[in-house]
Amino acid sequence: MTRVSSHSAPQFAAARAVWQNLGLPGLIDVHTHFMPPNVLRKVRNHFDALGGLWPLTYRGNEDECLALLRGFGVRHFTALSYPHRPDMAAWLNGWAGGFADRTPDCLRSATFYPEPDAHDYVSAALQAGARVFKAHLQVGGYDPRDPLLSDVWGTLADSGTPVVVHCGSGPEPGRFTGPGPFAEVLGEHPRLTAVIAHAGAPEYTAFLDLAERYDRVHLDTTMVFTDFAEARAPFPSDALPRLADLHDRVLLGTDFPNIPYHYPEQLHALAGLGLSPDWLRAVLHGNAARLFGL
Ligand SMILES: [Zn+2]
Repeated sequence: MTRVSSHSAPQFAAARAVWQNLGLPGLIDVHTHFMPPNVLRKVRNHFDALGGLWPLTYRGNEDECLALLRGFGVRHFTALSYPHRPDMAAWLNGWAGGFADRTPDCLRSATFYPEPDAHDYVSAALQAGARVFKAHLQVGGYDPRDPLLSDVWGTLADSGTPVVVHCGSGPEPGRFTGPGPFAEVLGEHPRLTAVIAHAGAPEYTAFLDLAERYDRVHLDTTMVFTDFAEARAPFPSDALPRLADLHDRVLLGTDFPNIPYHYPEQLHALAGLGLSPDWLRAVLHGNAARLFGL
């Protein structure tokens, strides 16, 4: 704890200045990762194996990461995890449920994979109070149109529960990433409350199309507009007015703690867009507060 607070004071001050200047009570971050320690170790090993391409800034344990988020002024956040194979999602959901029970500022999070019992454990997670789901098409390597997921999407749409979907082709494409497959899911389930992770990077404009077409499709800001992302998948500046117009459906997300820069960089990147203070207030807090009833 001491280590976190003494080394992090400047970051806390930088993050707090952003929301305090806007008159907000704090931040809501819809895209953060907490997962079982052995899974987190594997995720960190994955980034480390990229040979310095993705140097992780935050490597603390669960308590240290929680202290950091709270220090930045994040009032509510998620614990997104995702399976890369069958027979894993229900176990992840069990862990995430325990985490939410001991972490009242975390929105109870869950996930799924195309497998025969998916609808059963998704229903059970909803019964247990899950408020947000995560689907990762690149890591999972699955087709979101898989018939084994049809009832899952349908149940999430009916319940109005947001699902953060990593369906863009960044940082690496997968067999089923890109706007095409997920657009078909939305065609089948037009009332689905989908939150497109990373604003669909790098296929930003195609996912803006979907958000403009389906009024329950949201975009999260995870990594978007940071120097790191702009160097790899720049957001097209001529699409910025479209993002401004979607002011009620853009949500702060960050990927904390798996980021190669300090947390306030995401906030500064959004504040530096030159969009209105009302837009920023909605993105950093208001939209998620409304979506999750916080
Ligand atoms: Zn993420």
